[in-house]
Amino acid sequence: MEYTDAPITELPVSADTMTCPLCGHVLPKDAEACDRCDWVRVPDADTAEGKASDAVAVMLSVIPGLGHVYKGYRVLGLLFVIGAFGAILLGMLAATATAGFGLGLIPIYWLAVMFHVFGIEDRVASTVKDEGEEY
Ligand SMILES: [Zn+2]
Repeated sequence: MEYTDAPITELPVSADTMTCPLCGHVLPKDAEACDRCDWVRVPDADTAEGKASDAVAVMLSVIPGLGHVYKGYRVLGLLFVIGAFGAILLGMLAATATAGFGLGLIPIYWLAVMFHVFGIEDRVASTVKDEGEEY
């Protein structure tokens, strides 16, 4: 467990550099890892704090259900993945009967999933904290 609340280091940090949170080595701003120690950028560090981002969840919904999994709804996410296949199949079937118009069902499904994942509560925090003590 790393504690990254340390004050900003005294090293000169310009607009396009950052310092390694572990060793303070100056790195390019968007460095993925430190070349002096074994620090690596953890893109989903927020989830550990129970703060799933709505924007990230919506973007993950490019694959329907992934955003729901990200927010802590594993079963629901799986259902939406299955639902996506259903929507595609249904869209294809409808498309053959309606000269292509049925394909419009597919993006509607995507939009619905994205709106839904944007609206639901982030469940990451509760599932993580229920197992341990509150602080
Ligand atoms: Zn480092």
